[in-house]
Amino acid sequence: MKQHIIRLCVLLLAVLLCLSVVGCTAGGDTSSTPSHETQTSAIHSSTTADTTTDTTAVTTTNTTTGVNTTATTVTAAPTKALCAACGKATPVSGSAYCAGCKCAACNDRKVAEGDKFCAKHACVLPSCQEKATVDNGYCAQHGCAQAGCAKQKETDFAYCTSHNVIDILIFAGQSNMAGATESIPYPNDPVKGAVEFRYLTNMLQPLTHPVGEVLGGDLLTGVNKGSPVPYTCDAYIKASGRQAVAIHVAQGATKIAEWLKGTDRYTLAVDKIKAGIKLAKQHGKIGHIYCVWLQGESDAIDRTSKETYMQRLTQFKNDLKKDVGLEKFGIIEVGYFAYTVDWLTDRTKEDAKQCDETIMQAQEELPKVDSDFVMLTQICKTKLSLDNAYENPLADGHYTNKGVAIIGEEAGKALAKLAKE
Ligand SMILES: [Zn+2]
Ligand SMILES: [Zn+2]
Ligand SMILES: [Zn+2]
Ligand SMILES: [Zn+2]
Repeated sequence: MKQHIIRLCVLLLAVLLCLSVVGCTAGGDTSSTPSHETQTSAIHSSTTADTTTDTTAVTTTNTTTGVNTTATTVTAAPTKALCAACGKATPVSGSAYCAGCKCAACNDRKVAEGDKFCAKHACVLPSCQEKATVDNGYCAQHGCAQAGCAKQKETDFAYCTSHNVIDILIFAGQSNMAGATESIPYPNDPVKGAVEFRYLTNMLQPLTHPVGEVLGGDLLTGVNKGSPVPYTCDAYIKASGRQAVAIHVAQGATKIAEWLKGTDRYTLAVDKIKAGIKLAKQHGKIGHIYCVWLQGESDAIDRTSKETYMQRLTQFKNDLKKDVGLEKFGIIEVGYFAYTVDWLTDRTKEDAKQCDETIMQAQEELPKVDSDFVMLTQICKTKLSLDNAYENPLADGHYTNKGVAIIGEEAGKALAKLAKE
């Protein structure tokens, strides 16, 4: 009989305990803390909850001996503290503030309603709510990423003006470089780490398709859809960790002779490149200056000889070295063009193929005889120009968005290798 009463008492205590735990949980904690942790903090009142105490608490409530211990703690902490800021919600474990009032990175109070972080963790720019990630107190978007530098950035580049190193990537050639795909590619997000220089506005703007601007009538840029430019920059930056300003000087249906020094096109192209370099210098030091060249289709049509093409492209490269400080001349080898277009009826297919291959041979030989030249990719010749899947259905001999994305990725990666040498 006596034993029976004891058992009944124990049972009653257990029921009471269960009720008190349920009451605590229902106490309106709005934080996202997992419920088992909430129980522990309620039971142990001000003690910090960790997994060990948590497990012990759960285990002991399941044994008869444990019930007494835990039950005592509950009665010892009858007052439940509320958030020191709003006075309404339950504070998050270890903090005096509730989830709504607490800094997302520490236990302190966040700066103000609508903020995410406390003064120590928020970007020091008053208008910015982002977390400070660089040691100068700014978020990555606003502070210079250079260790020890306390400056705010002026641009989207990673560093302040005194710490930025900016490469200049000149994109030159004919229609496939100008932008002659079937449409503006989608998605078309600005390339991170690169901007495009525009001559008319003298601005560095986000780099997206279409690239370039119409200058001097038909001197620069006629076609304006997707081009290899953003893809090249994106691949270059991802593989090299560098930053770049893209300067676009291209025009459809141009032969190499139309790019030489002494022509209006050369003069305008150099003016634009110089203006771009000058503006880039205002935001950092200039790193590499490279040219990315995709041209030669019109010379295949025009039957330019291998020797003439090599001589003219060398002359163009040498003048760019002198006039804008070009370091390396990267070649995207031309694809089959005369051979693939339907409108070229003045020669046999075999002859047309030979015309393309003459230019290809010239472009392949240049890096072997002049170390300023670098072969970036042969993918147009070996794959894209012979596969209908990459041919723009609206423009014979031109690539699709899928095609220029592949060209850009190949060229950008090759260029990054060069930058690391
Ligand atoms: Zn609060
Ligand atoms: Zn904080
Ligand atoms: Zn910020
Ligand atoms: Zn800096």
